[in-house]
Amino acid sequence: MKRRQRERTLLLTGWGRTAPTAARVVRPRTAEQVAEALAAAGPRGAIARGLGRSYGDAAQAAGGLVLDCTGLTGPIRLDTERGEVTAPAGTSTGRLIDHLLERGWFVPVTPGTRHVTLGGAIAADVHGKNHHADSSLGAHLRSLTVAVPAGGVRRVGPDGDGADLFWATVGGMGLTGVVTEATLSVLPVETAHMKVDTDRTASLERSLELMSADSGHPYSVCWVDLLAKGAAMGRGVLTRAHHARVADLPPPLRRAPLRHRAAALPAAPPEMPFGLLNRWSVGAFNTAYFSAAPRRRRSEVRPAASFFHPLDAVRNWNRLYGPRGLVQYQFVLPLGAEDTLAAVMEGLSRAGAPSFLAVLKRMGESVPAPLSFPRPGWTLAVDLPAGLPGLGPLLRGFDEMLLAAGGRLYLAKDSRTDAATVRAMYPELPAWQRVRERVDPDGVLVSDLARRLELVRP
Ligand SMILES: Cc1cc2nc3c(=O)[nH]c(=O)nc-3n(C[C@H](O)[C@H](O)[C@H](O)COP(=O)(O)OP(=O)(O)OC[C@H]3O[C@@H](n4cnc5c(N)ncnc54)[C@H](O)[C@@H]3O)c2cc1C
Repeated sequence: MKRRQRERTLLLTGWGRTAPTAARVVRPRTAEQVAEALAAAGPRGAIARGLGRSYGDAAQAAGGLVLDCTGLTGPIRLDTERGEVTAPAGTSTGRLIDHLLERGWFVPVTPGTRHVTLGGAIAADVHGKNHHADSSLGAHLRSLTVAVPAGGVRRVGPDGDGADLFWATVGGMGLTGVVTEATLSVLPVETAHMKVDTDRTASLERSLELMSADSGHPYSVCWVDLLAKGAAMGRGVLTRAHHARVADLPPPLRRAPLRHRAAALPAAPPEMPFGLLNRWSVGAFNTAYFSAAPRRRRSEVRPAASFFHPLDAVRNWNRLYGPRGLVQYQFVLPLGAEDTLAAVMEGLSRAGAPSFLAVLKRMGESVPAPLSFPRPGWTLAVDLPAGLPGLGPLLRGFDEMLLAAGGRLYLAKDSRTDAATVRAMYPELPAWQRVRERVDPDGVLVSDLARRLELVRP
Protein backbone atom coordinates (compact mmCIF):
# COMPACT_ATOMS: atom_id res chain seq x y z
CA MET A 1 0.00 0.00 0.00
CA LYS A 2 1.28 3.49 -0.90
CA ARG A 3 2.11 5.73 2.03
CA ARG A 4 0.34 9.08 2.16
CA GLN A 5 2.79 11.94 1.68
CA ARG A 6 3.62 13.80 4.88
CA GLU A 7 1.81 17.15 5.08
CA ARG A 8 2.75 20.23 7.08
CA THR A 9 0.82 23.47 7.37
CA LEU A 10 3.05 26.46 6.69
CA LEU A 11 2.70 30.20 6.27
CA LEU A 12 4.19 31.08 2.87
CA THR A 13 5.19 34.25 1.10
CA GLY A 14 7.21 35.11 -1.98
CA TRP A 15 10.63 36.78 -1.92
CA GLY A 16 8.97 40.16 -1.23
CA ARG A 17 7.55 38.79 2.07
CA THR A 18 4.19 40.45 1.55
CA ALA A 19 0.73 38.78 1.82
CA PRO A 20 1.52 35.55 3.71
CA THR A 21 -1.04 32.75 3.46
CA ALA A 22 -1.23 29.31 5.05
CA ALA A 23 -1.36 26.08 3.08
CA ARG A 24 -0.76 22.38 3.52
CA VAL A 25 2.65 21.56 2.04
CA VAL A 26 3.86 18.22 0.67
CA ARG A 27 7.27 17.49 -0.82
CA PRO A 28 6.91 14.95 -3.63
CA ARG A 29 10.09 13.21 -4.77
CA THR A 30 8.87 11.60 -7.99
CA ALA A 31 6.51 12.38 -10.86
CA GLU A 32 4.16 9.69 -9.52
CA GLN A 33 4.01 11.41 -6.12
CA VAL A 34 3.26 14.70 -7.89
CA ALA A 35 0.37 13.05 -9.75
CA GLU A 36 -0.93 11.52 -6.50
CA ALA A 37 -0.78 14.87 -4.71
CA LEU A 38 -2.68 16.58 -7.54
CA ALA A 39 -5.36 13.87 -7.42
CA ALA A 40 -5.81 14.42 -3.67
CA ALA A 41 -5.58 18.24 -3.73
CA GLY A 42 -8.92 19.06 -2.09
CA PRO A 43 -11.41 21.87 -2.70
CA ARG A 44 -8.94 24.80 -2.47
CA GLY A 45 -6.71 23.34 -5.18
CA ALA A 46 -2.95 22.97 -5.48
CA ILE A 47 0.09 24.78 -6.83
CA ALA A 48 3.76 23.98 -7.31
CA ARG A 49 6.45 25.89 -5.46
CA GLY A 50 10.17 25.99 -6.19
CA LEU A 51 12.63 28.04 -4.14
CA GLY A 52 10.11 30.83 -3.50
CA ARG A 53 12.05 33.47 -5.45
CA SER A 54 9.06 34.92 -7.26
CA TYR A 55 8.37 38.17 -5.45
CA GLY A 56 4.62 37.99 -4.95
CA ASP A 57 1.96 35.32 -4.41
CA ALA A 58 2.65 32.98 -7.37
CA ALA A 59 3.83 29.99 -5.36
CA GLN A 60 1.30 30.00 -2.54
CA ALA A 61 -2.35 28.91 -2.29
CA ALA A 62 -4.37 30.06 0.73
CA GLY A 63 -6.07 27.07 2.34
CA GLY A 64 -4.91 24.77 -0.45
CA LEU A 65 -2.08 22.35 -1.11
CA VAL A 66 1.40 23.51 -2.09
CA LEU A 67 3.73 21.02 -3.78
CA ASP A 68 7.26 21.86 -2.69
CA CYS A 69 9.08 20.74 -5.82
CA THR A 70 12.59 21.09 -4.39
CA GLY A 71 12.33 17.36 -3.63
CA LEU A 72 12.32 16.58 -7.38
CA THR A 73 16.05 16.04 -7.63
CA GLY A 74 18.33 13.35 -8.98
CA PRO A 75 21.07 12.90 -11.53
CA ILE A 76 21.77 15.63 -14.08
CA ARG A 77 22.32 14.05 -17.52
CA LEU A 78 24.59 15.98 -19.89
CA ASP A 79 24.64 14.88 -23.53
CA THR A 80 27.71 16.53 -25.02
CA GLU A 81 26.98 15.18 -28.53
CA ARG A 82 23.63 16.92 -28.67
CA GLY A 83 24.68 19.86 -26.50
CA GLU A 84 21.79 19.38 -24.10
CA VAL A 85 21.14 18.59 -20.47
CA THR A 86 18.24 16.82 -18.78
CA ALA A 87 17.51 17.52 -15.12
CA PRO A 88 14.70 17.04 -12.60
CA ALA A 89 12.57 20.16 -12.11
CA GLY A 90 13.69 20.68 -8.50
CA THR A 91 17.31 21.16 -9.59
CA SER A 92 18.44 24.69 -8.81
CA THR A 93 20.07 26.88 -11.44
CA GLY A 94 23.07 27.01 -9.12
CA ARG A 95 23.45 23.24 -9.00
CA LEU A 96 23.01 23.06 -12.77
CA ILE A 97 25.70 25.72 -13.33
CA ASP A 98 28.13 24.00 -10.94
CA HIS A 99 27.59 20.69 -12.72
CA LEU A 100 27.90 22.15 -16.21
CA LEU A 101 30.77 24.60 -15.70
CA GLU A 102 33.29 22.06 -14.50
CA ARG A 103 32.54 20.09 -17.69
CA GLY A 104 32.94 23.14 -19.95
CA TRP A 105 29.26 24.03 -20.46
CA PHE A 106 26.91 26.76 -19.26
CA VAL A 107 23.16 27.27 -18.96
CA PRO A 108 21.62 29.13 -21.92
CA VAL A 109 19.79 31.60 -19.64
CA THR A 110 20.16 32.40 -15.95
CA PRO A 111 18.13 34.87 -13.90
CA GLY A 112 19.86 37.22 -11.44
CA THR A 113 19.95 34.60 -8.69
CA ARG A 114 21.16 30.99 -8.72
CA HIS A 115 18.51 30.09 -6.12
CA VAL A 116 15.66 29.23 -8.47
CA THR A 117 14.53 25.77 -9.52
CA LEU A 118 14.37 24.63 -13.11
CA GLY A 119 10.58 24.21 -12.73
CA GLY A 120 10.18 27.74 -11.35
CA ALA A 121 12.38 29.16 -14.10
CA ILE A 122 10.27 27.47 -16.78
CA ALA A 123 7.00 28.55 -15.16
CA ALA A 124 8.19 32.20 -15.29
CA ASP A 125 10.00 31.77 -18.65
CA VAL A 126 12.93 33.59 -17.09
CA HIS A 127 15.21 35.95 -18.97
CA GLY A 128 18.81 36.82 -18.27
CA LYS A 129 21.31 39.51 -19.16
CA ASN A 130 21.46 37.94 -22.64
CA HIS A 131 17.80 38.36 -23.59
CA HIS A 132 18.59 40.83 -26.36
CA ALA A 133 20.80 38.18 -27.99
CA ASP A 134 19.36 34.82 -26.92
CA SER A 135 15.71 35.34 -25.87
CA SER A 136 14.24 33.65 -22.80
CA LEU A 137 14.62 30.18 -21.32
CA GLY A 138 11.68 28.88 -23.39
CA ALA A 139 13.71 29.33 -26.58
CA HIS A 140 16.26 26.79 -25.30
CA LEU A 141 13.94 24.11 -23.94
CA ARG A 142 13.85 20.91 -25.97
CA SER A 143 11.24 19.03 -23.94
CA LEU A 144 9.31 19.06 -20.68
CA THR A 145 7.74 16.34 -18.59
CA VAL A 146 4.57 17.70 -17.03
CA ALA A 147 2.09 16.14 -14.59
CA VAL A 148 -1.38 17.47 -15.43
CA PRO A 149 -4.55 17.18 -13.34
CA ALA A 150 -6.51 15.70 -16.29
CA GLY A 151 -4.36 12.65 -15.78
CA GLY A 152 -0.91 11.37 -16.27
CA VAL A 153 2.53 12.65 -16.84
CA ARG A 154 3.15 13.97 -20.36
CA ARG A 155 6.33 14.63 -22.27
CA VAL A 156 5.91 17.59 -24.60
CA GLY A 157 8.13 19.66 -26.87
CA PRO A 158 7.98 22.96 -28.72
CA ASP A 159 6.64 21.39 -31.94
CA GLY A 160 4.10 18.75 -32.89
CA ASP A 161 1.66 17.00 -30.57
CA GLY A 162 1.50 18.64 -27.18
CA ALA A 163 3.17 21.86 -28.37
CA ASP A 164 0.24 23.90 -27.08
CA LEU A 165 0.67 22.44 -23.57
CA PHE A 166 4.43 23.05 -23.84
CA TRP A 167 4.00 26.75 -24.68
CA ALA A 168 1.17 27.24 -22.17
CA THR A 169 3.48 25.82 -19.48
CA VAL A 170 6.42 28.07 -20.44
CA GLY A 171 5.56 31.24 -18.51
CA GLY A 172 2.32 29.60 -17.31
CA MET A 173 3.10 30.21 -13.60
CA GLY A 174 2.50 26.58 -12.63
CA LEU A 175 -1.16 26.72 -13.68
CA THR A 176 -1.09 24.14 -16.50
CA GLY A 177 0.73 21.33 -14.71
CA VAL A 178 3.71 20.49 -12.56
CA VAL A 179 6.96 20.22 -14.49
CA THR A 180 8.92 17.22 -13.23
CA GLU A 181 11.85 17.18 -15.67
CA ALA A 182 13.21 19.26 -18.53
CA THR A 183 15.74 19.01 -21.32
CA LEU A 184 17.45 22.17 -22.51
CA SER A 185 20.30 23.12 -24.78
CA VAL A 186 23.58 24.16 -23.19
CA LEU A 187 26.39 26.45 -24.24
CA PRO A 188 30.03 25.32 -24.56
CA VAL A 189 32.45 27.55 -22.63
CA GLU A 190 36.23 27.47 -22.20
CA THR A 191 36.39 29.07 -18.76
CA ALA A 192 34.35 29.90 -15.65
CA HIS A 193 35.09 33.60 -16.17
CA MET A 194 33.62 36.55 -17.98
CA LYS A 195 35.37 39.27 -19.97
CA VAL A 196 33.56 42.40 -18.86
CA ASP A 197 33.41 45.92 -20.27
CA THR A 198 32.09 48.64 -17.93
CA ASP A 199 30.86 52.14 -18.79
CA ARG A 200 29.51 54.79 -16.51
CA THR A 201 26.68 56.55 -18.31
CA ALA A 202 25.81 60.16 -17.50
CA SER A 203 22.11 59.99 -18.39
CA LEU A 204 19.28 57.69 -19.44
CA GLU A 205 19.73 58.81 -23.02
CA ARG A 206 23.35 57.67 -22.99
CA SER A 207 22.46 54.33 -21.36
CA LEU A 208 19.86 53.64 -24.05
CA GLU A 209 22.20 54.73 -26.80
CA LEU A 210 24.94 52.35 -25.68
CA MET A 211 22.51 49.46 -25.22
CA SER A 212 20.96 50.09 -28.64
CA ALA A 213 24.26 49.89 -30.49
CA ASP A 214 25.05 46.33 -31.52
CA SER A 215 28.30 45.90 -29.62
CA GLY A 216 28.25 42.12 -30.10
CA HIS A 217 28.20 41.42 -26.34
CA PRO A 218 25.80 38.57 -25.54
CA TYR A 219 25.34 39.89 -21.98
CA SER A 220 24.39 43.43 -21.12
CA VAL A 221 22.76 45.11 -18.11
CA CYS A 222 22.60 48.62 -16.72
CA TRP A 223 22.27 49.50 -13.04
CA VAL A 224 20.43 52.80 -12.82
CA ASP A 225 20.58 55.49 -10.13
CA LEU A 226 16.93 56.38 -9.73
CA LEU A 227 17.61 59.03 -7.12
CA ALA A 228 19.72 61.16 -9.46
CA LYS A 229 17.80 64.21 -10.63
CA GLY A 230 17.69 66.60 -13.58
CA ALA A 231 20.10 65.89 -16.42
CA ALA A 232 21.65 63.04 -14.42
CA MET A 233 18.31 61.21 -14.18
CA GLY A 234 18.86 57.64 -15.35
CA ARG A 235 22.64 57.76 -15.06
CA GLY A 236 24.01 54.31 -14.56
CA VAL A 237 26.69 51.70 -14.73
CA LEU A 238 26.50 49.54 -17.84
CA THR A 239 28.23 46.18 -17.86
CA ARG A 240 28.54 44.11 -21.00
CA ALA A 241 30.29 40.81 -21.26
CA HIS A 242 31.32 37.69 -23.15
CA HIS A 243 32.34 34.32 -21.74
CA ALA A 244 36.12 34.59 -21.41
CA ARG A 245 38.30 32.28 -23.48
CA VAL A 246 41.39 30.64 -21.97
CA ALA A 247 43.58 33.12 -23.84
CA ASP A 248 41.76 36.00 -22.09
CA LEU A 249 42.75 34.79 -18.60
CA PRO A 250 45.82 35.92 -16.69
CA PRO A 251 48.38 33.05 -16.54
CA PRO A 252 47.60 31.89 -12.95
CA LEU A 253 43.93 31.31 -13.89
CA ARG A 254 44.81 29.40 -17.07
CA ARG A 255 45.93 26.36 -15.07
CA ALA A 256 42.33 25.57 -14.02
CA PRO A 257 40.16 27.74 -16.28
CA LEU A 258 36.91 26.01 -15.34
CA ARG A 259 37.41 26.22 -11.58
CA HIS A 260 34.41 27.95 -10.15
CA ARG A 261 33.11 28.90 -6.73
CA ALA A 262 29.69 30.38 -6.09
CA ALA A 263 29.76 33.58 -4.07
CA ALA A 264 28.67 33.00 -0.47
CA LEU A 265 28.94 35.69 2.15
CA PRO A 266 27.14 36.22 5.47
CA ALA A 267 23.40 36.51 5.75
CA ALA A 268 21.72 39.88 6.14
CA PRO A 269 20.74 40.76 9.73
CA PRO A 270 17.56 38.92 10.74
CA GLU A 271 15.37 41.99 10.56
CA MET A 272 16.14 45.63 9.86
CA PRO A 273 14.00 48.34 11.43
CA PHE A 274 11.84 49.88 8.72
CA GLY A 275 13.16 53.30 7.86
CA LEU A 276 16.84 52.47 7.55
CA LEU A 277 16.29 52.17 3.85
CA ASN A 278 15.25 55.67 2.97
CA ARG A 279 15.97 58.16 0.22
CA TRP A 280 19.00 59.52 2.08
CA SER A 281 20.70 56.21 2.90
CA VAL A 282 19.94 54.82 -0.53
CA GLY A 283 20.90 58.11 -2.20
CA ALA A 284 24.28 57.95 -0.42
CA PHE A 285 24.72 54.31 -1.47
CA ASN A 286 23.82 55.10 -5.09
CA THR A 287 26.21 58.05 -5.28
CA ALA A 288 29.03 55.99 -3.77
CA TYR A 289 28.31 53.04 -6.10
CA PHE A 290 28.17 55.25 -9.16
CA SER A 291 31.35 57.13 -8.26
CA ALA A 292 33.26 53.94 -7.47
CA ALA A 293 32.50 52.43 -10.89
CA PRO A 294 35.13 52.98 -13.54
CA ARG A 295 34.26 55.60 -16.14
CA ARG A 296 35.29 53.17 -18.86
CA ARG A 297 37.01 49.84 -18.37
CA ARG A 298 37.60 47.13 -20.94
CA SER A 299 38.22 43.37 -20.79
CA GLU A 300 38.17 42.94 -17.03
CA VAL A 301 38.19 39.22 -16.17
CA ARG A 302 35.60 38.36 -13.51
CA PRO A 303 34.29 35.05 -12.14
CA ALA A 304 30.98 34.04 -13.75
CA ALA A 305 29.41 33.76 -10.27
CA SER A 306 30.01 37.41 -9.39
CA PHE A 307 28.95 38.63 -12.83
CA PHE A 308 25.66 36.73 -13.01
CA HIS A 309 24.64 36.54 -9.35
CA PRO A 310 26.14 39.41 -7.34
CA LEU A 311 23.08 39.59 -5.08
CA ASP A 312 23.56 36.01 -3.94
CA ALA A 313 26.62 37.18 -2.03
CA VAL A 314 24.31 38.35 0.79
CA ARG A 315 21.91 35.65 1.90
CA ASN A 316 18.32 36.77 2.62
CA TRP A 317 18.98 40.37 1.57
CA ASN A 318 15.20 40.76 1.23
CA ARG A 319 15.11 41.18 5.03
CA LEU A 320 16.86 44.54 4.62
CA TYR A 321 13.43 45.91 3.67
CA GLY A 322 12.06 45.31 7.15
CA PRO A 323 8.94 43.49 8.29
CA ARG A 324 6.65 44.98 5.65
CA GLY A 325 8.72 43.55 2.87
CA LEU A 326 9.40 44.74 -0.64
CA VAL A 327 7.68 45.09 -3.95
CA GLN A 328 9.46 44.65 -7.22
CA TYR A 329 8.00 46.62 -10.09
CA GLN A 330 9.20 45.13 -13.38
CA PHE A 331 7.80 45.99 -16.76
CA VAL A 332 8.73 45.85 -20.42
CA LEU A 333 8.00 48.63 -22.90
CA PRO A 334 8.27 48.26 -26.68
CA LEU A 335 11.01 50.01 -28.62
CA GLY A 336 9.76 53.48 -29.44
CA ALA A 337 8.22 53.93 -25.97
CA GLU A 338 11.38 55.46 -24.49
CA ASP A 339 9.42 58.56 -23.42
CA THR A 340 7.21 56.41 -21.21
CA LEU A 341 10.30 54.71 -19.77
CA ALA A 342 11.75 58.13 -18.95
CA ALA A 343 8.43 59.29 -17.48
CA VAL A 344 8.22 56.28 -15.13
CA MET A 345 11.81 56.83 -14.04
CA GLU A 346 11.14 60.51 -13.46
CA GLY A 347 8.05 59.59 -11.44
CA LEU A 348 10.14 57.29 -9.23
CA SER A 349 12.85 59.90 -8.90
CA ARG A 350 10.29 62.63 -8.02
CA ALA A 351 8.67 60.40 -5.43
CA GLY A 352 12.12 59.91 -3.86
CA ALA A 353 11.53 56.17 -4.07
CA PRO A 354 14.51 54.63 -2.28
CA SER A 355 15.65 51.95 -4.68
CA PHE A 356 19.23 50.82 -4.83
CA LEU A 357 18.23 48.01 -7.08
CA ALA A 358 17.03 49.39 -10.38
CA VAL A 359 18.08 47.43 -13.41
CA LEU A 360 17.53 48.29 -17.05
CA LYS A 361 17.88 45.73 -19.82
CA ARG A 362 17.36 45.58 -23.53
CA MET A 363 14.99 42.75 -24.53
CA GLY A 364 15.12 40.80 -27.79
CA GLU A 365 12.89 38.26 -29.50
CA SER A 366 10.02 36.68 -27.60
CA VAL A 367 8.86 33.04 -27.65
CA PRO A 368 5.35 31.92 -28.73
CA ALA A 369 4.18 31.35 -25.15
CA PRO A 370 0.94 33.24 -24.39
CA LEU A 371 1.91 34.26 -20.84
CA SER A 372 5.64 34.75 -21.35
CA PHE A 373 6.65 38.23 -20.20
CA PRO A 374 9.56 39.31 -22.43
CA ARG A 375 8.89 41.36 -25.55
CA PRO A 376 11.37 43.29 -27.69
CA GLY A 377 12.05 46.61 -25.99
CA TRP A 378 13.24 47.82 -22.60
CA THR A 379 12.68 46.25 -19.22
CA LEU A 380 13.15 48.06 -15.93
CA ALA A 381 13.08 46.22 -12.59
CA VAL A 382 12.91 48.30 -9.41
CA ASP A 383 12.84 47.09 -5.80
CA LEU A 384 10.82 49.30 -3.48
CA PRO A 385 9.92 49.05 0.22
CA ALA A 386 6.31 47.83 0.45
CA GLY A 387 5.68 50.29 3.29
CA LEU A 388 6.60 53.36 1.24
CA PRO A 389 3.82 55.95 1.73
CA GLY A 390 1.83 56.48 -1.47
CA LEU A 391 3.34 53.43 -3.22
CA GLY A 392 -0.05 51.97 -4.28
CA PRO A 393 -1.29 55.05 -6.19
CA LEU A 394 2.18 55.70 -7.61
CA LEU A 395 2.41 52.21 -9.14
CA ARG A 396 -1.22 52.28 -10.32
CA GLY A 397 -0.39 55.46 -12.19
CA PHE A 398 2.58 53.70 -13.82
CA ASP A 399 0.33 50.74 -14.79
CA GLU A 400 -1.87 53.17 -16.74
CA MET A 401 1.16 54.64 -18.49
CA LEU A 402 2.39 51.16 -19.44
CA LEU A 403 -1.04 50.20 -20.77
CA ALA A 404 -1.18 53.29 -22.93
CA ALA A 405 2.28 52.55 -24.36
CA GLY A 406 1.79 48.80 -24.99
CA GLY A 407 3.85 47.70 -22.01
CA ARG A 408 3.31 44.85 -19.58
CA LEU A 409 4.17 43.74 -16.06
CA TYR A 410 6.08 40.56 -15.15
CA LEU A 411 3.80 38.11 -13.29
CA ALA A 412 6.73 36.50 -11.45
CA LYS A 413 7.45 39.85 -9.80
CA ASP A 414 3.93 41.12 -9.28
CA SER A 415 2.18 41.28 -5.91
CA ARG A 416 -0.20 44.21 -6.36
CA THR A 417 -1.79 44.79 -9.75
CA ASP A 418 -5.35 43.81 -10.74
CA ALA A 419 -7.11 41.44 -13.13
CA ALA A 420 -8.27 44.03 -15.66
CA THR A 421 -4.75 45.40 -16.06
CA VAL A 422 -3.26 41.95 -16.67
CA ARG A 423 -6.06 41.04 -19.12
CA ALA A 424 -5.22 44.12 -21.15
CA MET A 425 -1.48 43.52 -20.98
CA TYR A 426 -1.70 39.84 -21.97
CA PRO A 427 -4.11 39.66 -24.94
CA GLU A 428 -3.34 35.96 -25.44
CA LEU A 429 -4.72 35.10 -22.00
CA PRO A 430 -7.97 33.56 -23.40
CA ALA A 431 -5.98 31.26 -25.72
CA TRP A 432 -3.86 30.15 -22.74
CA GLN A 433 -7.01 29.60 -20.66
CA ARG A 434 -8.41 27.25 -23.33
CA VAL A 435 -5.32 25.02 -23.14
CA ARG A 436 -5.42 25.13 -19.36
CA GLU A 437 -9.09 24.13 -19.23
CA ARG A 438 -8.33 21.08 -21.37
CA VAL A 439 -5.55 19.82 -19.10
CA ASP A 440 -7.15 20.95 -15.84
CA PRO A 441 -10.93 20.80 -16.44
CA ASP A 442 -11.75 20.77 -12.71
CA GLY A 443 -9.57 23.78 -11.92
CA VAL A 444 -7.24 21.97 -9.53
CA LEU A 445 -4.24 24.22 -10.19
CA VAL A 446 -4.69 27.56 -8.52
CA SER A 447 -2.48 30.01 -6.66
CA ASP A 448 -3.11 33.24 -4.76
CA LEU A 449 -1.77 35.08 -7.82
CA ALA A 450 -4.17 33.22 -10.11
CA ARG A 451 -7.13 34.16 -7.89
CA ARG A 452 -6.06 37.78 -7.47
CA LEU A 453 -5.53 38.29 -11.20
CA GLU A 454 -8.44 36.04 -12.26
CA LEU A 455 -6.17 33.95 -14.47
CA VAL A 456 -8.35 30.94 -13.74
CA ARG A 457 -12.08 30.40 -13.35
CA PRO A 458 -13.24 31.15 -9.78
C1 LIG B 1 17.28 38.21 -6.57
C2 LIG B 1 16.35 37.78 -7.68
C3 LIG B 1 16.75 38.01 -8.98
C4 LIG B 1 15.92 37.62 -10.03
N1 LIG B 1 16.33 37.86 -11.31
C5 LIG B 1 15.55 37.50 -12.35
C6 LIG B 1 15.97 37.72 -13.68
O1 LIG B 1 17.04 38.25 -13.94
N2 LIG B 1 15.15 37.31 -14.69
C7 LIG B 1 13.96 36.67 -14.44
O2 LIG B 1 13.27 36.30 -15.39
N3 LIG B 1 13.54 36.44 -13.17
C8 LIG B 1 14.31 36.83 -12.13
N4 LIG B 1 13.89 36.59 -10.84
C9 LIG B 1 12.60 35.91 -10.63
C10 LIG B 1 12.74 34.38 -10.58
O3 LIG B 1 13.64 33.91 -11.57
C11 LIG B 1 11.39 33.73 -10.85
O4 LIG B 1 10.42 34.23 -9.98
C12 LIG B 1 11.40 32.20 -10.73
O5 LIG B 1 10.11 31.74 -11.10
C13 LIG B 1 11.71 31.73 -9.33
O6 LIG B 1 11.85 30.32 -9.32
P1 LIG B 1 11.53 29.48 -7.99
O7 LIG B 1 12.09 28.11 -8.15
O8 LIG B 1 11.96 30.25 -6.81
O9 LIG B 1 9.95 29.40 -8.09
P2 LIG B 1 8.81 29.92 -7.08
O10 LIG B 1 9.01 31.37 -6.83
O11 LIG B 1 8.73 29.02 -5.93
O12 LIG B 1 7.55 29.75 -8.04
C14 LIG B 1 7.40 30.60 -9.17
C15 LIG B 1 6.32 30.05 -10.10
O13 LIG B 1 6.79 28.82 -10.64
C16 LIG B 1 5.82 27.80 -10.42
N5 LIG B 1 6.56 26.54 -10.27
C17 LIG B 1 7.55 26.27 -9.40
N6 LIG B 1 7.99 25.02 -9.60
C18 LIG B 1 7.25 24.50 -10.61
C19 LIG B 1 7.22 23.23 -11.26
N7 LIG B 1 8.04 22.22 -10.92
N8 LIG B 1 6.32 23.06 -12.26
C20 LIG B 1 5.47 24.06 -12.63
N9 LIG B 1 5.46 25.26 -12.04
C21 LIG B 1 6.34 25.47 -11.05
C22 LIG B 1 5.06 28.23 -9.19
O14 LIG B 1 3.77 27.68 -9.18
C23 LIG B 1 5.02 29.73 -9.38
O15 LIG B 1 3.96 30.11 -10.19
C24 LIG B 1 14.68 36.97 -9.76
C25 LIG B 1 14.28 36.75 -8.44
C26 LIG B 1 15.12 37.16 -7.40
C27 LIG B 1 14.69 36.92 -5.98
